[in-house]
Amino acid sequence: MRQPLVAGNWKMNGSLDSIKALVEGVKAGLDSVTTAEMAMCPSFVYLPQVAAMLEGSSISLGAQDVNDQESGAHTGEVAPGMLTDIGCKYVIVGHSERRSIYGESDEFTASKFAAARKAGLVPILCVGETLEEREQDITGQVVARQLDTVIALEGISAIGDAVIAYEPVWAIGTGKTATPDQAQEVHAFIRGKLAALDSNVAERVQILYGGSMNPGNAAELLAMADIDGGLIGGASLKPDDFLAIGRAANA
Ligand code: PEP
Repeated sequence: MRQPLVAGNWKMNGSLDSIKALVEGVKAGLDSVTTAEMAMCPSFVYLPQVAAMLEGSSISLGAQDVNDQESGAHTGEVAPGMLTDIGCKYVIVGHSERRSIYGESDEFTASKFAAARKAGLVPILCVGETLEEREQDITGQVVARQLDTVIALEGISAIGDAVIAYEPVWAIGTGKTATPDQAQEVHAFIRGKLAALDSNVAERVQILYGGSMNPGNAAELLAMADIDGGLIGGASLKPDDFLAIGRAANA
């Protein structure tokens, strides 16, 4: 049985004050979330503040990105060991905003995935197709290519120690959610692809859905057989909404 994971990607949002209110608000309602693991991924600069606030709570800490090098002359970048040092469990790699706005390739994403694992982090590997790719009917090809680049570098067993997030790019921050059937189809495709290489890994790995998940659609999405949680953008900035999504995963 896979434990659901509901992870909030705060993106480039927040201030010292608003983050305090957000974390306190989620902590105050956490008892109502009985099944899912909850995680928060603030911007790098707020990681120490959030780490301190989460001490003693069951909420996990994650970062939104990481560099693939251990240290050195990489101005402005953050090394994987710095994230473990500050108390991160998770790190998002290959988010579509990194891929599309900053031109990060499948290969660079795979390299980040490898570096994160080496430092003891659990990568949340984002995959997903653009609207154009969906309309061309190549969603499977795109997602397979994104996964294969990581598997070629790290091997299939590495996927078993990670989390996958299927995020159709056309559904991120747009208010357009994939229907539960659309999402389940791709999640089942991903699990089937992994099962062809290693059935234990496929059975174990959590595959999250991401793309405008909110309290109104979470229960239906999370009820699908291969959807094991959510990667939540906008709705993770509102304590009540984030908690409601967490509760939608209650057994
Ligand atoms: C995301 O950024 O990973 C995401 C899913 O965003 P939103 O929930 O706002 O669509």
